[in-house]
Amino acid sequence: RFITLEGVDGAGKSTHTVWIADYLRAQGLEVVSTREPGGTPLGEKLRALVLTDQMGLDTETLLMFAARCEHARQVIEPALERGAWVVCDRYTDATYAYQGGGRGLGAERIAVLEQWMRAGQPDRTWLFDVPLDVARARLADAREPDRFEREGAAFFERTREAYHARAAADPGRIRIIDSTRSIAQIRTDLEAGLRDLIA
Ligand code: C5P
Repeated sequence: RFITLEGVDGAGKSTHTVWIADYLRAQGLEVVSTREPGGTPLGEKLRALVLTDQMGLDTETLLMFAARCEHARQVIEPALERGAWVVCDRYTDATYAYQGGGRGLGAERIAVLEQWMRAGQPDRTWLFDVPLDVARARLADAREPDRFEREGAAFFERTREAYHARAAADPGRIRIIDSTRSIAQIRTDLEAGLRDLIA
């Protein structure tokens, strides 16, 4: 099974990615825990480029998909084929949100690339949702901001909006998590969701 976690920066999904992987392993399942952009040696190099260098929007989008394609072929697809669970911090929804919404590329051309690489759909996507002030407060003490995290409030709102549109279009797959709540409360929801997926 293929699980992805999505959300704006500062929503807290990385913490939950680790917890989900540990939870599934404790059930005796084989788990591959990974992230995007990245997930392979080449993908991590592409990630470093995309997060630091200035580039045009089309180039940025193509590099995201180059990293994703390598990740899917080298890591995700082989793992799913042998019956492992894959837990991935961001996947294609992030491109719809950040490049499509945040940067204003729109969904149409991203859908072309998604089809072109024959990207599989996750079985479950959790969208960690927080408003701007909460995200900012969490990021402030977390780390040095990358070039996306230095964007202004309008970029944040467009990205969040695009995530919501994705969730509205595919409510069977994408579940919104109110990530202003405590970690313990969120885990209760995740655990119930994971039990359903395992059953
Ligand atoms: O989730 P994580 O912090 O690893 O994401 C790294 C950065 O890449 C974030 O700042 C995120 O906003 C950005 N990103 C992006 N477009 C994507 C995926 C991630 O701009 N498709």
